[in-house]
Amino acid sequence: MKEQTIQLNLSPERKPKPQSEELGFGKIFTDHMFIMDYTEGQGWHDPRIVPYQPISLDPACMIFHYGQTVFEGLKAYLTEDNRVLLFRPQKNFERLNRSNERLCIPPVDEEFALEALKQLISVEKDWIPNAEGTSLYIRPFIISTEPFLGVAPSSRYKFMIILSPVGAYYKEGIHPVKILVESEFVRAVAGGTGEAKTAGNYASSLKAQEIADGKGYTQVLWLDGLEKKYIEEVGSMNVFFKINGEIVTPALNGSILEGVTRNSVIELLKSWDLPVTERRLAMEEIREAYKSGQLEEAFGTGTAAVISPIGELLWNDEKMIINEGTTGPIAKKLYSTITGIQNGKEQDPFNWTVEVEQYAATK
Ligand SMILES: *Cc1c(COP(=O)(O)O)cnc(C)c1O
Repeated sequence: MKEQTIQLNLSPERKPKPQSEELGFGKIFTDHMFIMDYTEGQGWHDPRIVPYQPISLDPACMIFHYGQTVFEGLKAYLTEDNRVLLFRPQKNFERLNRSNERLCIPPVDEEFALEALKQLISVEKDWIPNAEGTSLYIRPFIISTEPFLGVAPSSRYKFMIILSPVGAYYKEGIHPVKILVESEFVRAVAGGTGEAKTAGNYASSLKAQEIADGKGYTQVLWLDGLEKKYIEEVGSMNVFFKINGEIVTPALNGSILEGVTRNSVIELLKSWDLPVTERRLAMEEIREAYKSGQLEEAFGTGTAAVISPIGELLWNDEKMIINEGTTGPIAKKLYSTITGIQNGKEQDPFNWTVEVEQYAATK
């Protein structure tokens, strides 16, 4: 697999680049994409970088009927001295293969996938926006393409990587959001697919999100699927609480998606000698801490927003205002440190960033 060369078919036409104010999230796509195919008996083959374009699929393709698909999300950043950095991309391809394993999709060669991503980004370097807080969002994904209506693993797949320049998540610095604790719907249960980044998890989350939105809340906080007592995630982010000096995040339990940002936050807090614990965390404990004045901070973590402070939680009829609805010091320090490492302004003591060299053939 690794020896395969990636065919380059560059587009004769280039789209105009957007202004940084027009970016938003995930609406604009670059001039090229990466694609390779899988055929049973042959493995992954025909890796290529081609002009960004629609793909044609048989309506019977299994992806449309049973949702056998996985995806990833990461970002590339342009530094002030014009270098391109990826943040811990190996972790995303490791996780892609863990998702593949759960969905019966054949694994990809992680090193080759990273190499393909680097070549694609090298072609699209001019698309990486340079305004403060902007980046190039990277969406690798795999779909099942065998035309067959039987429920079984597909014998054919497509692995693709598309790129989207994205704007600053917070226009005026990070600000806290209001979160509704979800008591009816659940996101995942242990034994299900919560640990995998697979489409169905997000399709099934829309209903609760829509209801929360209608009540003026930004996201829902998901509780465990069995007892609806224990905290799992917030929206599609992992979640942390600071309770009486201890920073707590729910332990991975088979239904929580293991975030790269979550892992980075834990490593950073440890390196700052702050007490951080991964354990089971009941919503009732949060309420008790709130009542006794010991709930000091709460924030979500994920690639899109990096750190998203929580200013308010609504649980049934009980409203909890956290840190007077403002961003706490831990959330602030984590945000500035992680974004600083990502855009090359801060030291990178853990060697988390990976530089993308310019490939001669892609200039
Ligand atoms: C992607 C995702 C996260 C965050 O993962 P990162 O690697 O930090 O971006 C958390 N929860 C869910 C459900 C996710 O899909």
